[in-house]
Amino acid sequence: MADRSLRGIRLGAQSLQSEEGVVFEERTEHLYRCAECGRDTKLMFAHDAEAPATWECRTCGSEAVRRVGDTTVEVDRSSEKAARSHWDMLLERRTIPELDELLEERLALLRSRRGGHGGDADRLSA
Ligand SMILES: [Zn+2]
Repeated sequence: MADRSLRGIRLGAQSLQSEEGVVFEERTEHLYRCAECGRDTKLMFAHDAEAPATWECRTCGSEAVRRVGDTTVEVDRSSEKAARSHWDMLLERRTIPELDELLEERLALLRSRRGGHGGDADRLSA
């Protein structure tokens, strides 16, 4: 972030850039409240920028949620849902009893092949 690139520079010290003719962008301050430690993190954003719903808490590093008036904003977690595993997706389509049933079917099929006559297992052991 911007903090990192400023490391080693005396803040507010010599700037080689002239402020002549600079028009400051209108800014909006947003407040982020941490659910973990309860502290607020204040951040400045350009007036027309869309402030993110969450920010890392400056005190404890947990997730802080943006405040609007007396409440926090709704956090859109749909992007996190994309990180679900194959197992999660499987569970969305099948229940555990269904999966048990399928497993039994497959095992029965494998056992019948292995134990049956003329199967691969017989040929290999002969
Ligand atoms: Zn915190």
